[in-house]
Amino acid sequence: MTAPAYFDTHCHLQDPAFSDDRAAVLARARAAGVSEIVAIASSPADAEEARALTGEATDPMLWFTAGLHPHEASVWEPATKQAIERLLDAGAVAVGEIGLDYHYDNSPREMQRRAFAEQLALACKWDLPVIVHSRDAEDDTLAALAESDIAPNRVVLHCFSSSKRMLDCGVERGYYVSFSGMITFRSFPAAELVPRVPEERLLAETDAPYLAPIPHRGQRNEPAYVVETVVALAELRGADAGHMADRTRRNGFAFYRLARRD
Ligand SMILES: [Zn+2]
Repeated sequence: MTAPAYFDTHCHLQDPAFSDDRAAVLARARAAGVSEIVAIASSPADAEEARALTGEATDPMLWFTAGLHPHEASVWEPATKQAIERLLDAGAVAVGEIGLDYHYDNSPREMQRRAFAEQLALACKWDLPVIVHSRDAEDDTLAALAESDIAPNRVVLHCFSSSKRMLDCGVERGYYVSFSGMITFRSFPAAELVPRVPEERLLAETDAPYLAPIPHRGQRNEPAYVVETVVALAELRGADAGHMADRTRRNGFAFYRLARRD
């Protein structure tokens, strides 16, 4: 029997938190069975750093995304958009992370909505999926997605921690839903929400370096810990952990439309 393989579909691998020991982090990921990672960007400069990592020969396999996070939306201007377009031409596998964050309101909401809508349009034009960050902005997020031309199977609600109402709406529309290590926290209403997602729309992520799962909570998160998320997903769904690893991995390839090595 072969050991399970895991796909960390959302990791900020280029983050400075990994500057001192990124090779060791990747070695631990490989040892834990993580065979694929997508490095998620928050800005064009961040995407350039993610892209640089994918240029090196790596195992696990590595891809990058390009997009402007809602926290940074106040700098949305033609030059930002052009920089993202260049990165999409250069092989980014998704537009993200993008969305709306009314919890921190780091950028004016009007600018957030504009950057989100225009980046959804970019994803349609490039035929790429979108990674959606939404916090305290459920109605506006769902409305922006509905108003765009994006196909449902090209949307993931990442690091899902919103309401049952939003989850049910996303599931009904056919979006992917990605869960992070937060589902291992006792305070998270995971038992109720996780089983509501159809198996073929389920993704696993770390969102590292943030949100380390139990038993690593409070420490720096890293891609190896996606295993804890997958095990928790399996427990909450009454599924076999090996099956859950394989299913979320296959879903990762389908969502990003990537070629498998094995
Ligand atoms: Zn993230």
